[in-house]
This record gives sequence, C-alpha cells and structure tokens, in this order.
Amino acid sequence: MSIKVLKFGGTSVGSPEALRLAASIIREELPGGGVVVVSALSGTTDQILKAVSSAGSGDTNTALEILGSIEVRHRTAADALGVLKVVENAWAPLFDRLQSLLEGMGLLWETSPKAKDAALAIGETLSVNLLTALLQSVGLRAELKDAREVLRTDARHGRARPRPDLIRDACQSWNPLLAQGTCIVTQGFIGSCPDGATTTLGRGGSDTSATLIGEALGADEVQIWTDVDGVLTADPSLVPGARPIPVMSLREAAALSAFGAKVLHADSLAPVERGRFKLVVANTHRPRASRTEILFQVPERNAGIITSVAYKEGLVCVHFPPARDLDHVFQTASDLQDAGAVRYGLLNTPEGSLLAVRPEHADAADLLAQLAQSGLRVESGWSSVALVGEGLRQYPGGALALLATFEKETIGGILAGGAGISVAFLVPDERLRDLIPRLHQLCIET
Ligand code: ASP
Ligand code: MG
Repeated sequence: MSIKVLKFGGTSVGSPEALRLAASIIREELPGGGVVVVSALSGTTDQILKAVSSAGSGDTNTALEILGSIEVRHRTAADALGVLKVVENAWAPLFDRLQSLLEGMGLLWETSPKAKDAALAIGETLSVNLLTALLQSVGLRAELKDAREVLRTDARHGRARPRPDLIRDACQSWNPLLAQGTCIVTQGFIGSCPDGATTTLGRGGSDTSATLIGEALGADEVQIWTDVDGVLTADPSLVPGARPIPVMSLREAAALSAFGAKVLHADSLAPVERGRFKLVVANTHRPRASRTEILFQVPERNAGIITSVAYKEGLVCVHFPPARDLDHVFQTASDLQDAGAVRYGLLNTPEGSLLAVRPEHADAADLLAQLAQSGLRVESGWSSVALVGEGLRQYPGGALALLATFEKETIGGILAGGAGISVAFLVPDERLRDLIPRLHQLCIET
C-alpha cells in the first residue's frame, strides 16, 4: 500500500478560505485515503499560552476572556464552512476542559509544564475536529484519530522526545482504516507519555508529527503544506528576491533548518532520514505554484554552488579559556541543551573554545547567567549566517572565497558544518539586515 501523509500548518487552516483550499488539496492528493496532520488554527497556540500565563499569575478573568475569543473565532469559521452544527458537540467538552484547566491554574496561581501541555493540546484538537467535519461534509471518507493513541513520547513536557519504536507499533492499528481508503485526520504537535498524560513536541512540532507518522507507516511521501512556495533561498522578509528551491538534498534541508531557516522544524528531518521517503514543501494558498522536493539522494550541484542562506539571531557565545579541559566544555554544552538551548556551533582551537547557543527556554537563560557568574565570558548579541549547498562538499573554497565580503565585518567565529555542506559566520545581530541580502546577491542571484 502506498501511503502519503499531508500536514497543514496553522496558516493553512487559519481561515475558512484556507480550510476550503486545504480540503480541495486533500481531495486531490489523497483520492485513495491517507493521513492528514493538522496544526491549531494560526495564532491559537499563542493565545492559549497567553491564557495559561494570565491564569498562572492569578488573572483568571483575562484567561477566560482569551478562551472566549478562541471560541468565537472557531465558531465563526465553522459557521462559514457550514459545519457548526456538526462540530459544536465535539467542541463543547474541549472548551469546558480548557476552562477548567485555566480556572484550576488561576486558583493555584501555578502552571506546571504538564498542565500547560494539556491546555495546548486543545488547540490542535479543535482544529482536527473542524477539518474532519469539513472533509466529511464535502463527501470524503474522513475519520478523526487522536494522535495521542500513536504518538508516544517521553515525559519531558513542553519538549517531549518521540519514541519512534513505540510510534511504529502503535501506528499499525491505523492500517486497516488506510486499507479501506479512509483519510485519517489527526493532531500535530501533541503526543502522550508512558503514564498517558498529554505531551507536546515543542513549538512548530507538527512537522515532526507528520514525518514521525510517515516513518511509522512506511509512507512514500510526506507533504508539508504551508504559506510559502517551498523552501526559499533566503528569508523573504530580508531578501525580497528570495526564490524557491525546486529540489534539494535532505542534508541541505537539515543544515538549513539547523542553522535557523524557519520553513521546517529541525527535529522533523531525522524521521525522513530513517524512513527515506520524499518530503515535499508546498503552498496551500498557491497549490499550483512551485514546491520543493527534498530527496534522500543528492541532486547534482556544481562545485562551489551555494543553494541558500540561513541565519539565526539572538545567539549567546560562551568562551572557555584554553586551560579548560574539553570534558568541561562538552558537559556545559550538553547541560545547556538539556535546559532548552539550541546549539549553533562549538569551536575548539588552541586559543580556547567557543560555544554558540540560543536559549529557547528560561532554564537555559538562567544557566547562562550562572555560567557568567562563575567567571566564563558570556556574550549575547550574536547571529549566525550560514551558507549551505551540496556544491560546497566538492569545493568548500566556494564559500571561503566570499570572505572578502566580510572584509570589514566583526566576525565572532567561523563554523564549518560537519556534513561539509555549510559554512557559517558569527556576526553581531545588528549586521544581519545588511549582510544577508548582500550574501544572497553574491552567492545566489549572480
Ligand atoms: N500549534 C503549534 C505551534 O504553534 C504546533 C505547530 O503549529 O506546529 O507551535
Ligand atoms: Mg510550522
């Protein structure tokens, strides 16, 4: 059985028009059934987080006002799609539950990561009900399956790590439905841990849900439907001339996501590597526009050719003196990662070591403050600018030739990626706006 998994991000289900487009894409792409993974309606996850934080500081009124606006938005969308009558019964217990959770947090002035996950899951569950009802109303054989039945994770709430072996076993229960040609609709982003509690995979985690499910079901293809025409050569908000990349290697996609490109979640690519299926990124709003195919097999690239430019701002550099042994450096890197920092580079030279991280979680920021107090030099305000392309494997000098561009720049460090297809430079945050378009012009537009 050849299986396809389609994932629709928040903006692809964020309005009745987008939902209608998603439904017609599903009809076209999955005529014999398949799996559809859905995010919460755009902005809902942020709103739930805001409600949780208001409740946690004792402001239950604000939390419930936000809940009210989430409810209105969802009901309005369902009404416009003509499925309000069908979904409102399924939604009522979800809104009640979110209300109880927020009231509980408001009473206790406390929000645990576990409670937060329980609240966040409601966003995805609302949207999965809405899309299922819409698909059924247009005559598709669609069935909602709760992702928590299959997406098994550990108990690290808020940033749960998936258990691919358990996911594979659990997903087998979906095979009979798929064999009947059913379109299974399920939530992205959420899973369940061994005690049965709800977990989440971290912000933007729905891409990872889709690729994990694709891997577990032995899919041939996973499609990520979003609001851009595929993976672009650079961030279009900094580079108006950025263009879609028609075909790229999985390694290029992995390097781009690791260096901060926003289109795919960095964790979403490990299952593609294991499952070796085709990953496609396409635009829900322009389904016939260009799209990107990400292939395990490396496409031919000319020596030195750079495929794309990625960047990430808000990095913190930790400097270790040469006397510090490497064990200490590695231990610090791993502690920071456990506390929720993403590592962008680790350099070791006889002059000492440099670790560049981005604290994505308050615990990581606290740990960085402790490291500074312990006497290490800890500097914030750095960005990484990465040039990525299979062509660099044959000829890394292609990127180094660009060093002249950096002639008068302050460079905090040069990082060559382990896969041999990226070179990154640490530059001060405020230089990004100028440097990224210049690099794009030099490497890609000419
Ligand atoms: N709804 C979640 C978020 O906004 C997950 C996702 O969209 O991938 O982060
Ligand atoms: Mg996303």
